[in-house]
Amino acid sequence: MRIAINGAGIAGPTLAYWLQRSAHEVLLVDEAPALRRGGYVVDFWGVGYDVAEKMGLIPVVRELGYQVQEVRFVDRRGRTSGGFSADVFGRLTNGRFTSLRRSDLSAAIVHALDGRVETLFGDSIVAIEETDDAARVRFRHAAPRDVDLVVGADGLHSRVRELAFGPQSRFEAALGYHVAAFEIEGYRPRDELVYVSHAVPGRQVSRFAMRDDRTLFLLVFRDEYMPARPAGGQDRKALLAAVFADVGWECPQILAALRETSDLYFDGVSQIRMDRWTQGRTALVGDAAACVSLLAGEGTGLAMAEAYMLAGALRRDAGDRAAAFARYEQWLMPFLRRKQDSAARFASSFAPKSAPGIAFRDAVTRLLRVPFAADYFIGRDLRDDIELPDFDW
Ligand SMILES: Cc1cc2nc3c(=O)[nH]c(=O)nc-3n(C[C@H](O)[C@H](O)[C@H](O)COP(=O)(O)OP(=O)(O)OC[C@H]3O[C@@H](n4cnc5c(N)ncnc54)[C@H](O)[C@@H]3O)c2cc1C
Repeated sequence: MRIAINGAGIAGPTLAYWLQRSAHEVLLVDEAPALRRGGYVVDFWGVGYDVAEKMGLIPVVRELGYQVQEVRFVDRRGRTSGGFSADVFGRLTNGRFTSLRRSDLSAAIVHALDGRVETLFGDSIVAIEETDDAARVRFRHAAPRDVDLVVGADGLHSRVRELAFGPQSRFEAALGYHVAAFEIEGYRPRDELVYVSHAVPGRQVSRFAMRDDRTLFLLVFRDEYMPARPAGGQDRKALLAAVFADVGWECPQILAALRETSDLYFDGVSQIRMDRWTQGRTALVGDAAACVSLLAGEGTGLAMAEAYMLAGALRRDAGDRAAAFARYEQWLMPFLRRKQDSAARFASSFAPKSAPGIAFRDAVTRLLRVPFAADYFIGRDLRDDIELPDFDW
């Protein structure tokens, strides 16, 4: 089949990889002028780790990754108030856990395509017209093409979803937070392999020391702290400066660093909940289909698993698109819904609303040093209760 995929983040290139293993003719399109670099760091484990292993990516993922040793919560003076040793993640996943830049993972997957998939950067699918025997796809720049399938792997704000299923507002469930992430060079202090985090009611700021003397910052706040919806880049910085002005700890210098950055990620924290991920000749994968949000800490892995299963379903039901699409949804929808529900439950403890809430969270994290407590509080969310079939590739 001829298959056009919109989005070359995590799900898109993973899907392209497995589709070309079945000799489909794949076109991968991304609106970014080139592969994105920088950005935030993701925890990576579970079914996504299994897919990466099947793709031979584990050595590069481990090399690019950080084996975080500690999650440390600090008070406004920087004194430790809670946290836990991060080897709990290794223990609960049999060592199959690492943290790496989302863009490094994306680049590693694209690299695995080894030039076998036609890729258009700086372009985007802008229209899909279905006929009986094809879908005519129009691009922002390239000439239109007829394909057999169109896949939206274009993330939380998917254009393909909008074209095929309707406006985002019909499927988006806001979790009540906004998040910002940015990186700078030369920040001090550094705590190697420690994720350091400070919270006051409704707001949380964290830093993580990266290679090449860079530091990543993650700022999360509840929507009730947002004075007005920001428009451009500068407005977002001003908004963050206002929201975090009285938070204490290292915030004055972090906000000073924020002023210097030219690459700020800023978005609402939401999930995408749909009853169908396929329609006619169109399918969705990754965040476009079932964004779990950063609160699940597993969106990249789940995006890879969805891509793998969609390619597998198309392989198993070769020639019967409708059967393959139905199988894909049937395999994964209940699993993804459980992941979304668990992330939504976690939302209340992420940046607690009140000082007692923060104290309670800190106390719980101290308990994680006890193995059975760790298993109780995070073990069930870390385990993926789904098997990936082999599909005889
Ligand atoms: C701050 C933060 C922290 C996170 N932490 C974790 C974590 O710890 N662990 C984890 O596993 N996940 C985490 N996630 C979630 C994870 O990043 C996503 O779930 C994952 O990247 C989804 O992959 P995707 O391929 O579906 O979408 P994306 O990775 O978003 O890729 C979408 C691609 O589509 C392209 N695109 C977008 N629109 C268009 C268009 N109109 N036309 C063409 N191309 C387009 C984009 O350029 C991009 O390349 C986090 C997310 C955030 C925001």
